Amino acid sequence: PHVERTEILVIGAGPAGSVAAAMLRQQGRQVLILERQQFPRFSIGESLLPQSMEYIEAAGLLQDVVQAGFQYKNGAAFVRGEATTEFDFRDKFSPGWGTTYQVQRADFDDVLARGAERMGATLRFGDEVLSVQPGRPAQVQVRRPDGSEYTIEAGFILDASGFARLLPRLLKLESPSNFPVRGAIFCHVRDHIPAGAGFDRNKILITTHPEHVDVWYWTIPFSNGCCSLGVVAEPSFFERYAGTDLEKLQAIVGEDPNLTRLLRNAEWAVLPVRTITGYSANVSSLWGEGYALLGNAGEFLDPVFSSGVTIAFKSAQLASECLAREHAGETVDWEQAFSVPLRAGVKTFRRFVEAWYAGGFQKIIYHPDPQPEVRRMISSILAGYAWDTQNPYVADATGRRLRVLEELCSA
Ligand code: FAD
Repeated sequence: PHVERTEILVIGAGPAGSVAAAMLRQQGRQVLILERQQFPRFSIGESLLPQSMEYIEAAGLLQDVVQAGFQYKNGAAFVRGEATTEFDFRDKFSPGWGTTYQVQRADFDDVLARGAERMGATLRFGDEVLSVQPGRPAQVQVRRPDGSEYTIEAGFILDASGFARLLPRLLKLESPSNFPVRGAIFCHVRDHIPAGAGFDRNKILITTHPEHVDVWYWTIPFSNGCCSLGVVAEPSFFERYAGTDLEKLQAIVGEDPNLTRLLRNAEWAVLPVRTITGYSANVSSLWGEGYALLGNAGEFLDPVFSSGVTIAFKSAQLASECLAREHAGETVDWEQAFSVPLRAGVKTFRRFVEAWYAGGFQKIIYHPDPQPEVRRMISSILAGYAWDTQNPYVADATGRRLRVLEELCSA
């Protein structure tokens, strides 16, 4: 039978896959993207970080994203009871973009995928990768929407299959995340928050539950008068609430006075309420003979600092650089050139995520008298600059500097 050949196969047209494809097209490589769903389709992960703009720009997709009309974002606001604080990402330690967007992922992912296609990638919707025999080339079995199957011989595979985690499952690369299992209940609301209500639509709002320091809400405004609204907690917390997921979400939102006030006129669930649990995941290796894992197909930590899409883009950038070097005839050590640098930034985020749930980071951000320079360093991390080793809080591999700051702010 006829076997199709491709230089590089990208599995999944989420942010990781499309940006990788666009970057590879800029190198003139032949790229096939297989996406099992039809776009536009819902996905979670709607608040971007300014660091991500660098990768969108490098992929040649900046104009597409800017012209799509998403909600401008310049920072993050935090509320816990009476305490409030906000970070403007333009005021940060690291150089680079200080603003970005909050995006409906159905539209954003479609914009990126169409951009990659415009740049010459072949994009097939509805085609699902079923199995992979790794190697160079790899043999890949694919099923079309009509149920028929075909085989592809791929010179290299970028697994960008997201939470489906295709290669980690098929090749038994899964390794447990050392994060406790948490879940989220979320939906889109038409918020009707009046101007002057103390809600900055240019910022994500993160609210800590008034009584539980490890339970938090996101409110992410979009440019169409809606917000993404969600709550994150351990499963045992959600079990205390009866009713439908919508009723649970409304009950938990009702426990925070500020959110209750902001959302008093909201139309709920303009998109259906969804839940996701146990999303933290890790792998024993981010690459192997003839393949690499991008974005959520590799390691996923936690949503609290909106780092997922930024990490997905970073993985795409590192992989496309490795592929360019190989194409130029170099032997590339993927561990040193892909895995180590990718995991370095993930590790930075990890320290802050752990400090968030333990409560120490919250003491830092709500401190009434912060040192401006330290605050600019924290602002950089929140803006996604987790790879800028000039920032002492990035270079802080043991986490000592962060712990000292926590202690100073606890006094
Ligand atoms: P995805 O976007 O999941 O794309 C994977 C694609 O692969 C899908 O389209 C899927 O259909 C396709 N696919 C899967 N299997 C196959 C197959 N076998 N064959 C063909 N195609 C396949 N991140 C942020 O940056 N900001 C946030 O505010 C944020 N909030 C979050 C909130 C929650 C509750 C959670 C759980 C995550 C959040 N994230 C956030 C993380 C974000 O969702 C992910 O990091 C991001 O979507 C990863 O992108 P990706 O390209 O790796 O995968």
